[in-house]
Amino acid sequence: MDWCENCFNTGRIGRDSIITYCSCKYGKKLQQANFQLLYIKSGLPVNLTKLSLEDFLIQRNHRSGDALTPPQTGLKKQAKRVVLEYENQILDALKRKDIFINVGDNKQYSGNNLFFYGGEESGKSMLAVDILKTAIKKTKTSLSAYYIIWDDLLAELIPFSGIWEDLVDKCKNHGILCVDSIGKSDISYDNFSHVKARLNTIFKNRLLQNKPTIFTSNYSPQAFLKDPNSIFNSSIKKSLKIKLDNSCFQDFNTGGGYR
Ligand SMILES: [Zn+2]
Repeated sequence: MDWCENCFNTGRIGRDSIITYCSCKYGKKLQQANFQLLYIKSGLPVNLTKLSLEDFLIQRNHRSGDALTPPQTGLKKQAKRVVLEYENQILDALKRKDIFINVGDNKQYSGNNLFFYGGEESGKSMLAVDILKTAIKKTKTSLSAYYIIWDDLLAELIPFSGIWEDLVDKCKNHGILCVDSIGKSDISYDNFSHVKARLNTIFKNRLLQNKPTIFTSNYSPQAFLKDPNSIFNSSIKKSLKIKLDNSCFQDFNTGGGYR
C-alpha cells in the first residue's frame, strides 16, 4: 500500500555520491531529517527549527494567542515582509553582496545585516532562525549559518584555554552569523580585554568581508549606539533595524562591570 517503486521506501534514489531524494513521502521525511541534522550542527535551537514563518502570527502573540493591537500588528507585518525579502535574496547575502530591501517612502536599505529588537516573545529569535534555516536549506550545508546566544558566546570566550579558538573561527567563517539576545557590551574590559579582542576579531572580520550578521536584542539600537565602547556599533550602524514591539528596553541599566 505504502510501497514506493522508485526508492523502495528508502527515500533516496541513486547510489554513493549522487543521491537525490525521492518525491514520495519517504523522500520528504529523509530530507527533513537531514536538514534537521544540519540545523543542529549550526547551533539552531531545536524548538525554533520546528517553527516556520506561518507560525509567526501577525494578529496574535504566537505563544499566548492573545490578540494584538494595530501598532503591534503593523510592526509584525513589516518584519515578516523584510524577512521574506531577505530570504529571497539570501544567496546574494551568502556571496557577501549587499541585498536590497524596500523600507517604505520610496527608500531602500542596501546591506546584509539585520537587527531585530523588541520585548520578550515578540518573535525576534523565531524570525532570525527562519532566515538561518533558509540559508541552510538553499545551500544544503551547515556552513551557511551559525547561531549563538550572546551570553553563551561570552561564556565561551572568557576562559583562557578551551574551545574559544574554534568558536571564534566558527563565528568568523560561517555564512550568516546570528547572535541572539545581545545586551550590555561594556563588560569590564580591564579584566576582560582578551574577550574584547576575541569579539573584535569576529565582528571586524565579518564587516571587512561584508559577511551577513543578524542580531536580536531586548534593547533598542540607540542603547548600543550611545555607548562608544560597544563592540557592536559598526555592525549595528550597517544593519537594517527591525522593531517588533514597543516593550524593548531603551537603555542599559547603569552600573558597570561584567553583567
Ligand atoms: Zn520513494
